[in-house]
Amino acid sequence: MSEEKDQYHDERSAIRDYGVELIERGLTEGTGGNLSIRLDDEHIAISPSGVPYGDIDVWDVPVVDFDGNVLAGDREPSTELPMHLSVYEERDDVGGVVHTHSPYATAFAALGEPIPASHYLVAFAGTEVPVAEYRTHATPELGAAATEALGDEFKATLLKNHGVLTASDSLASAFDVAQMVEYCARIHHLASTVGTPDILPDEEIRRIQGKLESYGTSE
Ligand code: 13P
Ligand code: ZN
Repeated sequence: MSEEKDQYHDERSAIRDYGVELIERGLTEGTGGNLSIRLDDEHIAISPSGVPYGDIDVWDVPVVDFDGNVLAGDREPSTELPMHLSVYEERDDVGGVVHTHSPYATAFAALGEPIPASHYLVAFAGTEVPVAEYRTHATPELGAAATEALGDEFKATLLKNHGVLTASDSLASAFDVAQMVEYCARIHHLASTVGTPDILPDEEIRRIQGKLESYGTSE
Protein backbone atom coordinates (compact mmCIF):
# COMPACT_ATOMS: atom_id res chain seq x y z
CA MET A 1 0.00 0.00 0.00
CA SER A 2 1.32 3.41 -0.91
CA GLU A 3 2.06 6.30 1.43
CA GLU A 4 -1.52 7.63 1.16
CA LYS A 5 -2.70 4.87 3.54
CA ASP A 6 -2.22 6.82 6.76
CA GLN A 7 -2.60 10.30 5.33
CA TYR A 8 -5.35 12.89 5.19
CA HIS A 9 -6.82 11.95 8.55
CA ASP A 10 -8.78 15.20 8.95
CA GLU A 11 -10.24 15.21 5.44
CA ARG A 12 -11.23 11.54 5.66
CA SER A 13 -12.89 12.02 9.04
CA ALA A 14 -14.77 15.03 7.58
CA ILE A 15 -16.26 12.63 5.01
CA ARG A 16 -17.59 10.49 7.86
CA ASP A 17 -18.78 13.46 9.96
CA TYR A 18 -20.65 15.19 7.14
CA GLY A 19 -22.12 11.81 6.14
CA VAL A 20 -23.57 11.45 9.64
CA GLU A 21 -24.94 15.00 9.31
CA LEU A 22 -26.64 14.04 6.03
CA ILE A 23 -28.67 11.48 7.97
CA GLU A 24 -29.25 13.67 11.05
CA ARG A 25 -30.54 16.57 8.95
CA GLY A 26 -32.82 14.33 6.87
CA LEU A 27 -30.90 14.95 3.64
CA THR A 28 -30.69 11.28 2.76
CA GLU A 29 -31.87 7.84 3.87
CA GLY A 30 -29.82 4.77 4.77
CA THR A 31 -26.62 4.60 2.76
CA GLY A 32 -27.99 6.84 0.00
CA GLY A 33 -25.90 9.77 -1.17
CA ASN A 34 -22.14 10.25 -1.04
CA LEU A 35 -19.52 12.95 -0.41
CA SER A 36 -16.02 13.78 -1.54
CA ILE A 37 -13.26 16.30 -0.95
CA ARG A 38 -10.38 17.39 -3.19
CA LEU A 39 -7.11 16.58 -1.38
CA ASP A 40 -4.65 18.02 -3.91
CA ASP A 41 -4.16 18.25 -7.68
CA GLU A 42 -4.14 14.47 -8.05
CA HIS A 43 -6.34 12.96 -5.33
CA ILE A 44 -9.77 13.03 -3.77
CA ALA A 45 -11.21 11.26 -0.71
CA ILE A 46 -14.74 9.86 -1.20
CA SER A 47 -17.24 8.07 1.01
CA PRO A 48 -17.14 4.27 0.86
CA SER A 49 -19.96 2.50 -1.01
CA GLY A 50 -22.91 1.10 0.88
CA VAL A 51 -21.54 1.66 4.39
CA PRO A 52 -23.88 3.32 6.96
CA TYR A 53 -22.29 6.71 7.64
CA GLY A 54 -22.09 6.16 11.39
CA ASP A 55 -20.15 2.91 10.84
CA ILE A 56 -17.41 4.48 8.70
CA ASP A 57 -13.96 4.29 10.23
CA VAL A 58 -11.64 7.09 9.16
CA TRP A 59 -9.21 4.62 7.50
CA ASP A 60 -12.08 3.04 5.54
CA VAL A 61 -12.41 6.22 3.50
CA PRO A 62 -10.90 5.66 0.04
CA VAL A 63 -8.25 7.97 -1.39
CA VAL A 64 -8.55 7.87 -5.18
CA ASP A 65 -6.60 9.45 -8.02
CA PHE A 66 -8.14 11.14 -11.05
CA ASP A 67 -7.84 7.94 -13.08
CA GLY A 68 -10.06 6.21 -10.49
CA ASN A 69 -7.24 4.15 -8.93
CA VAL A 70 -7.83 3.48 -5.22
CA LEU A 71 -4.60 4.29 -3.36
CA ALA A 72 -5.81 3.88 0.21
CA GLY A 73 -8.89 2.99 2.24
CA ASP A 74 -10.23 -0.31 3.52
CA ARG A 75 -13.56 -0.13 1.62
CA GLU A 76 -14.67 0.26 -1.98
CA PRO A 77 -15.27 3.86 -3.11
CA SER A 78 -18.78 5.14 -3.76
CA THR A 79 -20.34 3.79 -6.94
CA GLU A 80 -20.84 7.46 -7.91
CA LEU A 81 -17.04 7.98 -8.11
CA PRO A 82 -17.26 8.72 -11.89
CA MET A 83 -19.73 11.55 -11.24
CA HIS A 84 -17.56 13.09 -8.51
CA LEU A 85 -14.42 12.85 -10.67
CA SER A 86 -16.21 14.51 -13.62
CA VAL A 87 -17.13 17.49 -11.46
CA TYR A 88 -13.55 17.99 -10.21
CA GLU A 89 -12.20 17.61 -13.73
CA GLU A 90 -14.62 20.17 -15.18
CA ARG A 91 -14.49 22.68 -12.36
CA ASP A 92 -11.18 23.90 -10.90
CA ASP A 93 -13.09 25.98 -8.36
CA VAL A 94 -14.63 22.91 -6.70
CA GLY A 95 -13.10 21.52 -3.50
CA GLY A 96 -16.03 19.43 -2.22
CA VAL A 97 -18.98 17.53 -3.72
CA VAL A 98 -22.12 16.27 -1.99
CA HIS A 99 -24.82 13.99 -3.43
CA THR A 100 -28.08 13.61 -1.50
CA HIS A 101 -31.51 12.05 -1.92
CA SER A 102 -33.17 14.84 0.12
CA PRO A 103 -36.94 14.38 -0.17
CA TYR A 104 -38.42 17.73 -1.28
CA ALA A 105 -35.68 18.41 -3.81
CA THR A 106 -35.87 14.83 -5.07
CA ALA A 107 -39.62 15.27 -5.60
CA PHE A 108 -38.80 18.13 -8.03
CA ALA A 109 -36.18 15.85 -9.62
CA ALA A 110 -38.89 13.21 -10.11
CA LEU A 111 -41.06 15.80 -11.85
CA GLY A 112 -38.13 17.04 -13.93
CA GLU A 113 -38.84 20.58 -12.70
CA PRO A 114 -36.08 23.02 -11.70
CA ILE A 115 -36.41 24.71 -8.29
CA PRO A 116 -36.99 28.38 -9.14
CA ALA A 117 -36.02 31.47 -7.15
CA SER A 118 -39.16 31.67 -5.01
CA HIS A 119 -36.85 32.16 -2.00
CA TYR A 120 -33.72 34.29 -2.15
CA LEU A 121 -31.58 31.53 -0.64
CA VAL A 122 -31.68 29.68 -3.94
CA ALA A 123 -28.76 32.05 -4.64
CA PHE A 124 -26.54 29.54 -2.79
CA ALA A 125 -27.01 27.27 -5.84
CA GLY A 126 -27.49 29.81 -8.66
CA THR A 127 -30.40 31.59 -10.32
CA GLU A 128 -32.34 28.33 -9.91
CA VAL A 129 -31.54 24.68 -9.31
CA PRO A 130 -31.51 23.12 -12.81
CA VAL A 131 -32.31 19.50 -13.67
CA ALA A 132 -29.75 17.19 -15.30
CA GLU A 133 -31.06 14.76 -17.91
CA TYR A 134 -31.90 11.30 -16.61
CA ARG A 135 -29.04 8.79 -16.71
CA THR A 136 -28.64 5.51 -14.82
CA HIS A 137 -27.05 5.91 -11.39
CA ALA A 138 -23.36 5.07 -10.96
CA THR A 139 -22.42 5.58 -14.62
CA PRO A 140 -20.01 7.99 -16.32
CA GLU A 141 -23.05 9.14 -18.35
CA LEU A 142 -24.66 10.44 -15.16
CA GLY A 143 -21.46 12.38 -14.47
CA ALA A 144 -21.58 13.91 -17.95
CA ALA A 145 -25.25 14.91 -17.58
CA ALA A 146 -24.60 16.42 -14.14
CA THR A 147 -21.56 18.45 -15.19
CA GLU A 148 -23.42 19.71 -18.24
CA ALA A 149 -26.28 20.94 -16.04
CA LEU A 150 -23.85 22.53 -13.55
CA GLY A 151 -21.94 24.33 -16.29
CA ASP A 152 -19.54 26.96 -14.94
CA GLU A 153 -22.19 28.78 -13.01
CA PHE A 154 -24.28 26.49 -10.80
CA LYS A 155 -23.33 24.98 -7.44
CA ALA A 156 -26.20 22.50 -7.50
CA THR A 157 -28.27 20.48 -9.90
CA LEU A 158 -31.10 18.03 -9.53
CA LEU A 159 -30.42 14.55 -10.91
CA LYS A 160 -33.61 13.52 -12.69
CA ASN A 161 -35.56 10.77 -10.88
CA HIS A 162 -32.70 10.45 -8.40
CA GLY A 163 -31.56 13.30 -6.13
CA VAL A 164 -29.30 16.32 -5.78
CA LEU A 165 -25.65 17.08 -6.55
CA THR A 166 -23.84 20.07 -5.07
CA ALA A 167 -20.31 21.33 -5.73
CA SER A 168 -18.55 24.20 -3.97
CA ASP A 169 -15.15 25.42 -2.88
CA SER A 170 -15.11 23.17 0.22
CA LEU A 171 -16.98 20.15 1.53
CA ALA A 172 -18.52 22.33 4.27
CA SER A 173 -19.80 24.77 1.69
CA ALA A 174 -21.14 22.00 -0.60
CA PHE A 175 -22.98 20.63 2.43
CA ASP A 176 -24.51 24.08 3.11
CA VAL A 177 -25.65 24.29 -0.50
CA ALA A 178 -27.31 20.86 -0.17
CA GLN A 179 -29.19 22.10 2.90
CA MET A 180 -30.31 25.29 1.14
CA VAL A 181 -31.49 23.36 -1.92
CA GLU A 182 -33.68 21.18 0.28
CA TYR A 183 -35.02 24.22 2.17
CA CYS A 184 -35.85 26.09 -1.07
CA ALA A 185 -37.58 22.99 -2.48
CA ARG A 186 -39.70 22.73 0.67
CA ILE A 187 -40.67 26.42 0.59
CA HIS A 188 -41.48 26.28 -3.12
CA HIS A 189 -43.65 23.23 -2.55
CA LEU A 190 -45.47 24.80 0.44
CA ALA A 191 -46.08 28.09 -1.38
CA SER A 192 -47.28 26.26 -4.50
CA THR A 193 -49.95 24.40 -2.51
CA VAL A 194 -51.73 27.68 -1.73
CA GLY A 195 -50.96 29.84 -4.75
CA THR A 196 -48.43 30.74 -7.39
CA PRO A 197 -45.12 31.85 -5.86
CA ASP A 198 -43.45 34.99 -7.22
CA ILE A 199 -40.08 34.22 -8.76
CA LEU A 200 -37.13 36.58 -8.23
CA PRO A 201 -35.43 37.77 -11.44
CA ASP A 202 -31.91 36.51 -12.28
CA GLU A 203 -30.52 40.02 -11.78
CA GLU A 204 -31.72 40.10 -8.18
CA ILE A 205 -30.26 36.63 -7.49
CA ARG A 206 -26.89 37.81 -8.82
CA ARG A 207 -27.04 40.82 -6.49
CA ILE A 208 -27.80 38.48 -3.58
CA GLN A 209 -24.89 36.22 -4.54
CA GLY A 210 -22.60 39.24 -4.16
CA LYS A 211 -24.01 39.95 -0.69
CA LEU A 212 -23.72 36.29 0.38
CA GLU A 213 -19.99 36.29 -0.40
CA SER A 214 -19.35 38.51 2.63
CA TYR A 215 -22.17 37.17 4.82
CA GLY A 216 -20.96 36.00 8.25
CA THR A 217 -17.35 37.03 7.67
CA SER A 218 -17.17 39.97 10.10
CA GLU A 219 -14.82 39.46 13.08
P1 13P B 1 -22.94 4.56 -2.79
O1 13P B 1 -23.31 3.92 -1.45
O2 13P B 1 -22.19 3.60 -3.69
O3 13P B 1 -22.22 5.87 -2.57
O4 13P B 1 -24.29 4.86 -3.59
C1 13P B 1 -25.34 5.62 -3.03
C2 13P B 1 -26.07 6.42 -4.05
O5 13P B 1 -26.70 7.39 -3.71
C3 13P B 1 -26.03 6.04 -5.50
O6 13P B 1 -26.55 7.03 -6.30
ZN1 ZN C 1 -27.82 8.48 -5.30
